[in-house]
Amino acid sequence: MSASNSLAHADITTLLHPYTDARAHEAKGPIVIDRGKGIYVYDDSGKEYIEGLAGLWSVAVGFDEPRLVEAAARQMAKLPYYHTFSSKSHEPSIRLAEKLVEMTPENLTRVFFTSSGSEANDTVVKMVWYMNNALGRPRKKTFLARTKAYHGITVASGSLTGLPNNHRDFDLPAIPVRHLTCPHFYRFGLPGESEAAFTARLVAEAEQVILEEGPETIAAFIGEPLMAAGGVLPPPEGYWQGIEALCRKYDILLVADEVINGFGRLGSSFGCVHYGFTPDILVASKQITSSYMPLAAIVFSEAIYNAIADNTARIGTFGHGFTASGHPVATAVGLENLAIIEEKDLVGNAARVGAVLQRELARFADHPLVGEVRGAGLIAALELVSDKATKAPFAPIGKVGAAAYAAGHANGLIVRAIGDTVALCPPLVITESQVLELVARLGRTLDDVA
Ligand code: PLP
Repeated sequence: MSASNSLAHADITTLLHPYTDARAHEAKGPIVIDRGKGIYVYDDSGKEYIEGLAGLWSVAVGFDEPRLVEAAARQMAKLPYYHTFSSKSHEPSIRLAEKLVEMTPENLTRVFFTSSGSEANDTVVKMVWYMNNALGRPRKKTFLARTKAYHGITVASGSLTGLPNNHRDFDLPAIPVRHLTCPHFYRFGLPGESEAAFTARLVAEAEQVILEEGPETIAAFIGEPLMAAGGVLPPPEGYWQGIEALCRKYDILLVADEVINGFGRLGSSFGCVHYGFTPDILVASKQITSSYMPLAAIVFSEAIYNAIADNTARIGTFGHGFTASGHPVATAVGLENLAIIEEKDLVGNAARVGAVLQRELARFADHPLVGEVRGAGLIAALELVSDKATKAPFAPIGKVGAAAYAAGHANGLIVRAIGDTVALCPPLVITESQVLELVARLGRTLDDVA
């Protein structure tokens, strides 16, 4: 047995993989990714792939950035670990918190660190509940989210997520949450309905749910500015303005889950900036360190901070935090990564090269398999349908997407298949000529599936 075969054998006899059909995996075995360079990764047989999803929507600076390796090594040598409990602190977490306050909208002034997006959204739920108890409104606990939303998989964040796979047999949702209609006009607009009328209908639906439940019970609205893992779904025009106005009217906190949108993905600094609304809480992760280290941050308003801080003065310590909250190596890598994003103007690159990606993908609108092409900046998707006129999906849903995913691999391209939607989210360092190469490989992939 070759080294690679013995590795594959060890994999299938020891691991339970996240987001994997375990029995199918045992039969097929893993693709072992061995190294990375720029926008490319290579498996252990040496085969090259364009990483068209930047890992998990997350590697902004490419797969071989030496400055991040050096930042990690420097911090490892100086102080590899320390915590931030009980008033302890360390420079990388302080500096990164400062940087995040500087980069995010002006009203966001405070930072809490976790290691993952799921932990961050669980923390948001607990912070908001704690705050409302502190403010003497213990009934204000319900979250509003959307179907097809992705906010993570822990018990609270998985409850906010609006995807059936994350709920089925996990006994979720387990917290008070109402899922509103997914704001995807192509799929959920009614026959003959304009985009403006669709927006108005969804905002009216949100208001109706708030009134039905009672505004005194609704704590927060959480949403990805552009929904990513649910299928790359840009909101319809005016949607966020309508939702923001409702939140202000009924004293509901607005939470922007920017775990994928943040740090330039849409060609703007953050998704909320891109779509023109101001959240009370912004959740960031993934591109914060280019996922070289696990890290997430909750950036929130002074009013929320004050309500929490006053309560700690009354009842004692804020009983929440993780061993790795603000981990020094993760935050040091985050600082260096954000410096690279600024120095290389990767947000500008996402806007410029993203326009090329969107323009080239728009040509696939004529492809017999493609129902809708959509995206913003360097995130995009093609939704594959069996009938372009009626938008009828393939049956069973996911089979054609899985075929495209496999054909992508054969053509040296890693994409994400979300049902029958093919999603792209390449590293922010991608160049115009690399976009053309990616699109060529995607074209061959679609032709193989057609
Ligand atoms: N929120 C959003 C918008 C995400 O896309 C994700 C992960 O893809 C998460 C939260 C959860 O992050 P993690 O996988 O780090 O727990």
